Amino acid sequence: MKCPSCHYDNITPVNYCGRCRMSFTPLSLAVARWKEHLYWILRRACAGSTSGFIAWFFIPVVSRILSQTGSHFLIFGLTGFMGGAFLGAVDGMVEESTPKTIRGAIVGGLGGLLGGMVFQVFRNLVDPQYILWLIFLYWAIAGAFIGTVSAWWEQKREKILCGAVSGFFGGGIGAYIGSSFHAYLVQEIPTGTWLFQRFTEALLGGIIGIALWSAIAAAERFFIFQRRTIDKQNHKTCDRCHAKNELASWYCTSCGSVLQESAPPEKLNLSPFSTLQQVSAMLRFLSRLSAATGFIAGFVSLFVFIPNYAGMEQLVTIIVIVVIALLSYALQILFSSLSETIKVYISK
Ligand SMILES: [Zn+2]
Ligand SMILES: [Zn+2]
Repeated sequence: MKCPSCHYDNITPVNYCGRCRMSFTPLSLAVARWKEHLYWILRRACAGSTSGFIAWFFIPVVSRILSQTGSHFLIFGLTGFMGGAFLGAVDGMVEESTPKTIRGAIVGGLGGLLGGMVFQVFRNLVDPQYILWLIFLYWAIAGAFIGTVSAWWEQKREKILCGAVSGFFGGGIGAYIGSSFHAYLVQEIPTGTWLFQRFTEALLGGIIGIALWSAIAAAERFFIFQRRTIDKQNHKTCDRCHAKNELASWYCTSCGSVLQESAPPEKLNLSPFSTLQQVSAMLRFLSRLSAATGFIAGFVSLFVFIPNYAGMEQLVTIIVIVVIALLSYALQILFSSLSETIKVYISK
């Protein structure tokens, strides 16, 4: 049995690890399992905060430019769409699933759009002292949409509901805390540089991302992605079409359903360089995030600025879109080549 503390491979089932003397009692094994749970949640919280941070670097700029020409519905709807799309794409990017990334971005974007509309409708109706609760609702709506995406393919009503509820509270609480913190920073340090102001606004997105993705990840880990463990078989059987699948598969290769069985880790031939593999996965995430950033920023610029602008400004917008596309492509290649370098090194 493989030791969860020092990763030494004890050949036969033993009571103590031969290398570090960890006793394999149910309690110590449960502690080790909790460490795994925590890492799993932290990975998504970290990805969510990075994605939120990037989104909120752009959102205030877009909203300021639009406030000169556009309606408030357009401003809140569009910034909501941007934030929701960035936050919704997180799970798909972490799992390196393009269909999940696109579905997450679209569903999250629509949730953000709806949240932004609701915010605009009630903005002038509520007492200013309750505005934070309205911001809570704004991102809770977006969060609920985002939370359903993970459970979507599970096709179970209670799992979808669990995803939606976790996203609702995660997004809402993140927005509440983030906005309070942002207001505090603006009050304490009113005259910051341009970069400092962007940083404090981006921090708001980072906080929403952490809260939202910690909540959804916990729901995924403890409820939505619950699987039956299989010990004996060398394949996973699909619940829906009964096709046999490789142990490493997560989805049925014949009907696309989520496979409800999980293989024990020692059967999966995992790389012994688990930390380097995580760094490599993080770089691949950043590569995907660069691509998503270019895509969303380009999309927003194309559909919003060009119709609102004329002449020279339109030309500037086109140049900006080209620069964004080139930059996001370059970053994507850079991160993915770094990730491949690590892969080559650890596969030797
Ligand atoms: Zn050990
Ligand atoms: Zn199937």
